[in-house]
Amino acid sequence: MTMTQTISHHLTDALLMGYSAGTLPEAFSLVVATHISMCDECRARAATFDTVGGAMLETSQAVAMDEGSLEATMARISAAQPVARGNGAVTQPGQMQGQHQRRARGVLPAPLQEYVGGDLEQINWRPVGMGVRQALLPTSRSASVRLLYIPAGASVPDHGHRGLELTLVLQGAFMDGDLRFGPGDIEIATEELEHTPIAAQGADCICLAATDAPLRFRALMPRLAQPFLRI
Ligand code: ZN
Ligand code: ZN
Repeated sequence: MTMTQTISHHLTDALLMGYSAGTLPEAFSLVVATHISMCDECRARAATFDTVGGAMLETSQAVAMDEGSLEATMARISAAQPVARGNGAVTQPGQMQGQHQRRARGVLPAPLQEYVGGDLEQINWRPVGMGVRQALLPTSRSASVRLLYIPAGASVPDHGHRGLELTLVLQGAFMDGDLRFGPGDIEIATEELEHTPIAAQGADCICLAATDAPLRFRALMPRLAQPFLRI
């Protein structure tokens, strides 16, 4: 089974660089690692950034540090420490390396299975309304990440974004305007985009979605429910 031929929506260089440098919030790291596990093209690009990053680190260590810069560096390093949780899952890039090549059985790719400690049977879905369900995954607080279950043909309420939203398709597909996102495809939504993703006909759509700011819903009902759903 190779999904790579059919993946047409990929990660940006900026996201791959951030992943390689370990500067992404944990929620985004998880989405990037999961896409990379499904996509040969982005895996190869990530490896290039790992090499470049390593070379830059060696160079910068040879340069004498300014006063105060050690403190700043240490603060950055401690901010980037992996967060260990009860299930032992950690999403630092270095720890993901060994998982890139592995194909997991089931719906969830290997990095996600490591993270949740199993496949879909581990997922505690909560209804969001209109048949859509979500499961928030535990992560460091700078961004949030959730699994979304959208029945075929159903739509996510029309919304805009205050920050960055990454949506990775794991099963089924969704349409956003004329664009189709199938398994392995990633949609990158920024503040300029307002959209109403609609799950395609066929298999129900399961996505992994990370956001670093609350969404902006147009309709009143989703706005009212928003604090409870933490979306
Ligand atoms: Zn890709
Ligand atoms: Zn969105």
